[in-house]
Formats: sequence, structure tokens, C-alpha cells
Amino acid sequence: MDSPVSDLAGQLRAARRVTVIAGAGLSAASGVPTFRGPGGLWRDFRPEELATAEAFERNPRLVWEWYDWRRQLISACRPNRAHEVLAAWNRRFARFALVTQNVDGLDERAGTTNVLRFHGSIWELSCFKRCEKAPESWRDDTAPFPELPPRCPHCGGLARPGVVWFGEAIDPGILQASREALACDVCLVVGTSAVVYPAAGLVLEAARLGAFTAEINPEPTEISGELDLAIAGKAEDVLDEVERLLSL
Ligand code: NAD
Repeated sequence: MDSPVSDLAGQLRAARRVTVIAGAGLSAASGVPTFRGPGGLWRDFRPEELATAEAFERNPRLVWEWYDWRRQLISACRPNRAHEVLAAWNRRFARFALVTQNVDGLDERAGTTNVLRFHGSIWELSCFKRCEKAPESWRDDTAPFPELPPRCPHCGGLARPGVVWFGEAIDPGILQASREALACDVCLVVGTSAVVYPAAGLVLEAARLGAFTAEINPEPTEISGELDLAIAGKAEDVLDEVERLLSL
């Protein structure tokens, strides 16, 4: 009997349009902690207590200390085998899209070009008050910042991280491009606990549109039972195995 991994490789061999929906588990092997796994907590705060506009208004310094810590941590990390395989798929398939909830930028560093950053980027900053002079966002790789919180270089007010906080809307352009990417032959969900919507609902939409759907995650998730295939394993191991089969 075929193994789930060779089953997935077979589907991919016949595919032209591939969409991957990724979460924090994709970057776990690089050393970036997931929110819900070990190391996800920082000074006993849950991410939900820090990643909100209310938390920022209450205590911008505390929120920036958390982001500053994460930016330092991520800047010391390297893309892992899972990021590399997805970058190879970006080149292999006629149409490839990576919808990621990750904010770390490791996919771009691995060479993936079509990345739809659903939750923004930890390397972008914007003016918290959206002052008229500042661009919508700007790139800043400083880690750590010499002084916290960093300021908007245009109005001197508070700068904020360019990530989508709990309770905030996804960028409409990214949402639209992600929806368009759901019309695909294979839709693969990698390393997300599938509890943060609307990102978690995307793969079910791809299934409705006729895609073959699969999940790679060491743990079962709330949507495992609704997909064509659920592969229990780590992203870096399973993607490596699938890529070896594809390259035979
Ligand atoms: P999550 O922390 O809720 O879930 C992580 C999932 O990854 C779990 O289901 C876990 O079983 C799985 N996992 C752990 N190790 C894995 C591995 N080696 N291979 C495959 N899967 C593995 O994260 P989430 O679902 O992405 O959602 C939470 C939010 O957290 C997102 O909005 C995201 O922006 C943010 N976040 C981002 C990063 C990052 O940028 N790297 C890190 C942490 C959290």
C-alpha cells in the first residue's frame, strides 16, 4: 500500500498549481518558538496579551520589548530544510503560492518569491498614528533597538511592528491574492494549529474549490479529519522526503 508521503508526492507530480498554507511549525526547526509550543511564552505573558492594539496603547514599551526579543531571536535563525523545499517548489511548479502566517521572513531568505504574508512582517514598522508623512510601512532590521519604543522618523510618534494583531483585519490585497491562490490542484497546510481564523479556513475553501488537500503536522489539528490526507510528522522531515520522491 502507498504511504501517505508517496501519496502526496503522486498528487504533486500531477499538479501545476500548488498552494501551501504555513504556520509557526514551519519555522520550529530553525529555532523560532511557536506560540503554543514550548518556549512560546515570554516572561509569563501569553501572546494574546501582547499582540493587540490595546496592549500597545496601555504599555508600548512592554509590547516592544517582546517584539525586540523576538526580532533578536529570529535574526540569529537560519531557514531550515522545510523552507528550502518550498523555495524549490516555487521554482518547480507553474504556479506556486505560499500563504504564511509567519512573520519571520525566513521563506524569503530561503528564496521563495511568491510569499503572501497573511500576518505581516516583524521586519516592517509603521507609524502607530498613521501620520500623513510616513509611508504605509518601512523595513528596519535593527535588532536590538538601541532605544525602546522605536519612533516614527516622520512625526516622532510611536512606531509599531508591521504585524497583524489579534482583532485587526488582514490586508485586503493579501486576502484577495490568498483567496485566488485557493483555486489550485494541491493545497497543503504545514505547521499550523489551525485555530487562528481566517487563515485556518483557507484550506477548507480550497477543498470546496476542488483541490486535493493535505496537512503536515506532528499533532492532529481541528481540521485533520476534513482533509484528504493528514501526515503526522515534522515539516522539515516530511517535506524533505516528498522532495526526494519528486526528484527521482
Ligand atoms: P501555533 O503556535 O498555534 O501552532 C504551531 C503548530 O505547529 C502546532 O500545530 C504544532 O503541532 C506544529 N508544529 C510544531 N513543530 C512542528 C514541525 N517541526 N513541523 C510541523 N509542524 C510543527 O502557530 P500558528 O498556527 O502559526 O498560529 C499562531 C500565530 O502565531 C500566527 O498568527 C503567527 O503569525 C504567529 N507566530 C509566528 C511565528 C513565526 O513567524 N515563526 C512564530 C510563532 C507565532
